Amino acid sequence: MSTPVTSTTISRADHPIRLEMIDQDGLRVMQRLGEAGFSSYLVGGAVRDLYLGKTPKDFDIGTNARPGQIRRLFKNSRTIGRRFRLVQVFFRNDKIIEVSTLRSLSEHDLDGPEQVLAPNNTYGTLAEDAQRRDLSINGLFYEIDQQTIIDYVGGVADLENGVIRMVGDPEKRILRDPVRMMRAIRHAARNSFTIEPASRRAIHRHADKLSLCPASRLRDELLKDLAGGSAAPWFELAVESGLFVELAPVYRSHLSSQSTDREHHYRKIHQLLQALDRIGATLPGAPARTLPDHLILACLLAPWASNAFAVPAKPVKGNQLHKRAKLIREAINATIGAYLNLNRAHRQEITALLGNLPMLNLYRGERDWPKWLKRKSYFAATRVLYAIIQEAETGRQVQPQQVTTISGAENKTPPRRGRSSRGKSRTRPSFADTRQGGIFGFKKQ
Ligand code: ATP
Ligand code: MG
Repeated sequence: MSTPVTSTTISRADHPIRLEMIDQDGLRVMQRLGEAGFSSYLVGGAVRDLYLGKTPKDFDIGTNARPGQIRRLFKNSRTIGRRFRLVQVFFRNDKIIEVSTLRSLSEHDLDGPEQVLAPNNTYGTLAEDAQRRDLSINGLFYEIDQQTIIDYVGGVADLENGVIRMVGDPEKRILRDPVRMMRAIRHAARNSFTIEPASRRAIHRHADKLSLCPASRLRDELLKDLAGGSAAPWFELAVESGLFVELAPVYRSHLSSQSTDREHHYRKIHQLLQALDRIGATLPGAPARTLPDHLILACLLAPWASNAFAVPAKPVKGNQLHKRAKLIREAINATIGAYLNLNRAHRQEITALLGNLPMLNLYRGERDWPKWLKRKSYFAATRVLYAIIQEAETGRQVQPQQVTTISGAENKTPPRRGRSSRGKSRTRPSFADTRQGGIFGFKKQ
């Protein structure tokens, strides 16, 4: 890989990052490395987020110390990674600071002959480490001595101008690791940034290369996109770039330019993801704590299930319910289950959610959910999914107390609504609207 030698140093006075914004333990790690004679930098997403005034998810550190040297400096640490070893330093409250040696190649660029190189040969300079990163805004370094930002890739200008730019030649970088297309779109959607033309054209051209990536990686990346609170803007970019139908082929025919119903399907999915974003952000622990994966995937699949199986609009009971659940499970196995490598439990949970939606629909006109329904293990999650669908359909915001019973993991014992399920003090049911209409059976406002 070519090694550019020019960098820009942005002094403390000219950027918004202050030491106080940096995690205390992260700072200590950098100080200790410095005292031992090594250089160290805050790298990647943390610099980007701090620059934009956001709270970083994690504080990753880059250093010229080798993994063994890092390990010796931090007692409470361990080495992970096969090809690229990096050191995790543990702190209180399960906090982990990842410290990695600067390197010249990303693990994803190692599919060719380089794969057999010893890890030593991939260690690199600061300039090289910037070049192996995915996007310019993720390729910045912050050092604590002078408190400067070091920029080899034009990342600061791109942060200032709201631009997503792939580092290096977008064509090559995408072919080496097609997931970088998803990363470009994710950060554009999250920050309302624009993807610069060369990166955008390359993504368009190579959208179908996503299928070359391991299914489990695609699943994890897709879940990050859907759960991050920007699923709706992500959807817009993912459809426009051609990535969406690669990730969710069940919608390929619905969203094809030949489809006469394209607008309708697009709007349905978009509205659903808008509701997912809004409701997800109101849950306790948001944004760090998100909805369970199966609920997010079921949400993505809800318009498809509505078309294919008429859920939740058409309630059925008993044997019919089981038959329909079986059909849904088979369809999931043959489609998203296979190409996202979902395990059995996940497939089952998604089926249960979609299959039981009609149950909630059946009782939505009642003053309260039947007791037996509330006791069902699927009730809490299905209620959230139902709320998301309802909000998408009607355009009316669902009240927070109707969805706070679940977050992170299934909450199987939703709190009682009202003092007594029979008494006069019952609160209004979640969905008292008995009017029919829309694809899910809800009426627009
Ligand atoms: P998030 O806030 O979602 O964690 P992030 O940018 O920190 O965003 P990570 O997946 O934690 O994302 O990756 C950390 C850094 O590693 C990125 O900022 C980027 O510099 C680099 N990186 C991650 N994935 C790739 C990739 N596929 N190719 C090149 N560099 C990558
Ligand atoms: Mg990160």
